[in-house]
Amino acid sequence: MLLHRRFLNALLLLLMLSGLAPAESSSALTYPIEFTVKPAAIVYSLRYAKINIIESHYALLAVQYSLLLAGIPYKIIDERDLLHTDLSKYSCLIFPCARYLSKNISILFLDMLDDWLKSGGSFICFGIPAYRRGNLSLYMDDWIRFYGRIFGLQRVSFRFGKDFSVSAERHRITLDHLGDRIPLEDISYDYIILSSSSNASVLLRTNMGDILALASRYGSGRAVLFTLPASDSFFQRTSIMLRSIQWCIYGDLIPVGLNLACGRVIWMLNIDADWSADRDATGDALAWLLRRSEKDCFTFSWAVITGNYSGLKKKIDWLSLKDLFNTSLEAGVEFASHTVHHPVWRYVTSKERVMFELAQSYRDIAGNLTIISGLQVPDGMFPIVYYPLIKKAGYEYAIQPFAYPFLRMVGIQPLHNDSIFIFWRSTKSDYYYFDLMKYSPKEAFRIEKENFDNFYALGHSAPYLLLWHDYSLINKTRRAVFLKVLKYEYANRVDVSSMTATEFIRRFEAWENVKIKITYMPDLITVQMDTHDVPEVCLQYLSCMCLRIDGKTISNVKFMNRSYPLFSDDYVILPELEHGRYEFKIKFGKPSIPHVIHMTTCRILSAELKDSDILLNLSRLWDNNARICLVDGSSLIVNGSKIKLERRGKVSFGYLTFKAVEVPKVKMIEAYEYFRGFLIGLILAFLLAVLVSIKIGSGKRQDESQGENA
Ligand SMILES: [Zn+2]
Repeated sequence: MLLHRRFLNALLLLLMLSGLAPAESSSALTYPIEFTVKPAAIVYSLRYAKINIIESHYALLAVQYSLLLAGIPYKIIDERDLLHTDLSKYSCLIFPCARYLSKNISILFLDMLDDWLKSGGSFICFGIPAYRRGNLSLYMDDWIRFYGRIFGLQRVSFRFGKDFSVSAERHRITLDHLGDRIPLEDISYDYIILSSSSNASVLLRTNMGDILALASRYGSGRAVLFTLPASDSFFQRTSIMLRSIQWCIYGDLIPVGLNLACGRVIWMLNIDADWSADRDATGDALAWLLRRSEKDCFTFSWAVITGNYSGLKKKIDWLSLKDLFNTSLEAGVEFASHTVHHPVWRYVTSKERVMFELAQSYRDIAGNLTIISGLQVPDGMFPIVYYPLIKKAGYEYAIQPFAYPFLRMVGIQPLHNDSIFIFWRSTKSDYYYFDLMKYSPKEAFRIEKENFDNFYALGHSAPYLLLWHDYSLINKTRRAVFLKVLKYEYANRVDVSSMTATEFIRRFEAWENVKIKITYMPDLITVQMDTHDVPEVCLQYLSCMCLRIDGKTISNVKFMNRSYPLFSDDYVILPELEHGRYEFKIKFGKPSIPHVIHMTTCRILSAELKDSDILLNLSRLWDNNARICLVDGSSLIVNGSKIKLERRGKVSFGYLTFKAVEVPKVKMIEAYEYFRGFLIGLILAFLLAVLVSIKIGSGKRQDESQGENA
């Protein structure tokens, strides 16, 4: 039913975009339309970060996640700098938790915001600014008046209770969710009462009839108001934040975004090696996964513990694992830290101990293996107050392990002086499924699948962070579940890219510096990209990013006026670019030529269609493999050699290894144990035979063999 409705909604969106159905208040467009994509700005309140550090962080990262989906670069600005900010540099101003905005910034800033809106700016406000007087929480009059002008808001009220749910009213922002009844997790909310003259569109209403969100045009600008903060789990379960950003920036135009990789999902597999000190177990798990990744063409990260953990009296054996570790590095596996002792954070109360866990493991790995940039946090959530230490210890990023309900959170966390990249895991882990909740393999897979499906439905190259442990990779039952997950989420998909966190960050650094101009025509758009500001070292990471055209089917692409065969229905895959200006001419309609619809990341040095052959010139970027998916074609030639294609349905898969690695032989634990059991059985049978035939001197021998079996 749900899928059916999603399909109808998508159809309706297509109709609206193609002008066959009336949009909510679409004005007639006169072509050509020139449009410059400016970055968005997120307003960060240090004051609020002090009041509620967790909510403030969640809200900031949730907004960044949606901006990544929308393909809109952004800046984070301190609320104290608002008055001195040149708003004309931005397309949309986003307040993730407006409720806690400082009272000092109000009047002057609101006048500035009003003018900017009239001249074509836009804003998205999550929450109604309020302040405390004694025990009372009062809404700020200046903001209420301002919202009155923009939305026709009369006043705001508050409801307390339970079992609230939200349904969407028809608007371009809510189309993915028409007919859905989405439960609210909170037991209270602010709601809006409109004046009778209001022209705003109501987006969301609760089962009590209360208004929770509005959209409005104002002058040549647009504005969206939610009473919920951006940290509310409602935004983790819908595409409404993404659609609000697109509507605010593009209005009636087709949204065009630049995504970090092509496809619907960026699949990021992280392994916590909790058994690092057990040479055989960890070696076996890593060797197995490395072989698997060579076969299925994906990459992953491997986080080691450098000290004692897991009741093991020893530490990681760098020397014995050296060959395997080096081969992994060669293949493009990313090593990361999982601390020294896998501490339980609530028992680590001193800053010095936290610093030791971060810095010492960094030094251990750098001294024995390789420089690293990531911390895979052990044991639940890493305290946000200690984020500055992550940077200080030498890391660029951390992966937070906790999941529900905060799943779609990726981005920069601004600190006083420095900032780091934070990724939140997108799903439950093997530990959660099997050890904590004791789910059956079937149940674990069902939950994992359902979670992944939500990210896949979002599309827009949604980052999906999966966490697994070394000990589950060498357990037959759990490994079978892992293989099922791998097949479902990655191996059988034609639109999922595999990536490590550091590659993601390098791509992000390139992405945030690309400038885009669009010219709209009725049946085509021209996208001009300016890459002059991309740092030299990040330039190659533009390769395999995509220009996403949301809501139109692409029939044909010209890159620098030459036919270009790398595009799917809704995106164009970027080749590697140098510093310069580039142009893509993108036509809409039904595609008729062979084209590559997806590629996992690599350097695309050239791409052309010659007769019916697709000719690619590729080289390695991160991992040593690339997977290429094409339709309507049967001939793929990469670097002069024809690639063998595997056909599945309409799509052909080609696999390419830039430089194969030889995985060193590692003792296979399960096989060895199986063999040992078999041997013992054989000895026992032999002894039994001896016992039966000779009937003497058997007691002593049997004691020995039983001891061996325990
Ligand atoms: Zn762990």
